[in-house]
Amino acid sequence: MIRRLAFFLLRFSLVPFFARELIQRKKVTIIAYHLVSPEVAEAHFTALRRRYNIISLRDFLNARSNGTLDKLPPKALIVTLDDGHKSNYLLKPVFQKYSIPATIFLCSGIAGTNRHFWFATHLVDTDRQYLKRVSDERRLEMLEKVGFSETREFATRQALSQTEIEEMKNIADFQSHTVFHSILPRCSKQRSVREIWQSRRDLEDKFGLSVYALAYPNGDYSNREIEIASSAGYECALTMDFGFNSRRTPLFQLRRIAVNDDAAVSELLVKVSGVWGFLRERVRSKRKPKGE
Ligand SMILES: [Zn+2]
Repeated sequence: MIRRLAFFLLRFSLVPFFARELIQRKKVTIIAYHLVSPEVAEAHFTALRRRYNIISLRDFLNARSNGTLDKLPPKALIVTLDDGHKSNYLLKPVFQKYSIPATIFLCSGIAGTNRHFWFATHLVDTDRQYLKRVSDERRLEMLEKVGFSETREFATRQALSQTEIEEMKNIADFQSHTVFHSILPRCSKQRSVREIWQSRRDLEDKFGLSVYALAYPNGDYSNREIEIASSAGYECALTMDFGFNSRRTPLFQLRRIAVNDDAAVSELLVKVSGVWGFLRERVRSKRKPKGE
């Protein structure tokens, strides 16, 4: 309730308005969803289209490489969705209605199968957070104990099917989110290489896609992943690091703003304007002990 009120007050404080007009005007904003419903997406896209110019990730990259970023519309915004959850299929008519050239990041070892996302296994949230911090081997060992394995086919699917991807191919832009959604910096080098290289190859072979972008699972990466992704032939990679993108943002560390899948419009507008992230980073840096 307090949170809702805070977003509501911030929304009408004019701060997001000035952030849009003064800071975002010449920058490219990339937002990230996961499992947004068609109803929420409709409300969000209506609000966003009034205030931003929605472009595709491809348009942004082309403008970056041609040095024509200044030709992009002001307040350019890119919509992305991570994981390729099966419910993303329901967004097809919404993308069409609002002309949203969204990018959906797929896990090549899960899309088109009945395999599950490891983080969607029945776990309490503290365990899920813990598993993101331990080594990849340890994570898989622990998941095995609760009946999960990466290649196990379950009775029901969680990801988009081959047919759904085929049907959406001309509307959405499908890119890579690795093979099995491993937390890359926790993997051996060999495993990280496989997750990044094989995903691109599989998505191209299995689904006939043209893959040029990678979204690091959980937004986690290190210098090693930047090197692997660029040698695997990707043109860019997306993080969950907060901020906007300009001609100076490193292409393998593109910044995104996470949006809650059920956010009210006030929350959406405050977050997308960067005001919320800016305030949060201030609070965090104050809390951090000196020298860190
Ligand atoms: Zn993900």
